[in-house]
Amino acid sequence: MASIPPEEHPEAAAPAARPDRSAAESAVRTLIRWAGDDPTREGLLDTPARVVRAYEEFFAGYLEDPVQILSRTFAEVDGYDEMVVMSDIRFESHCEHHMVPIIGKAHVAYLPDRRVVGISKLARLVDIYARRLQIQEKMTVQIADTLNDVLEPKGVAVVIEAAHQCMTTRGVHKPGATLITSRMLGAFRSNSTTRREFLAMIGLTGAGPLNNT
Ligand SMILES: [Zn+2]
Repeated sequence: MASIPPEEHPEAAAPAARPDRSAAESAVRTLIRWAGDDPTREGLLDTPARVVRAYEEFFAGYLEDPVQILSRTFAEVDGYDEMVVMSDIRFESHCEHHMVPIIGKAHVAYLPDRRVVGISKLARLVDIYARRLQIQEKMTVQIADTLNDVLEPKGVAVVIEAAHQCMTTRGVHKPGATLITSRMLGAFRSNSTTRREFLAMIGLTGAGPLNNT
């Protein structure tokens, strides 16, 4: 969020601290040597440039402002006041502890209060936060709170289900393990019928407020 000064928003990188491309490529060469290989051998010569370009894609979310994306809303909804649910929004993110992929899907819902946003904006919102270094819990909160703050709906619900490669390919090696996080605001928090209706729509039904099985 560019509008917030860095000192009040420690997660935002100070723009002045951003290295140039050749410094980034040189860091990749260091990691190749750290892995035990030779960055000057033929197969690896173009790798630093490719990795740096890939990083531009993986972390494009730092250059986009989610508030601006959501700011264009539509007030003409002909009295539509039921929940809007976008389910199974696939995303790719990177864990901020190991910088390896987090791959999963987000389900985003809100209960409109006069205004709605274009549906592609919900997917964009997920992508902007996914394309940053993340932990899943923080990403869940960021998506829900931004939607809530900008749209001011009667409620917001976000559920994220994801597999963390730092758990599946290293460390405890638990392939297939999925982490589920959720944030319920407004009517989704206070009204269990609304919450259950949402969880049923995204295929998470069960006895508890959020069925983790
Ligand atoms: Zn990790």
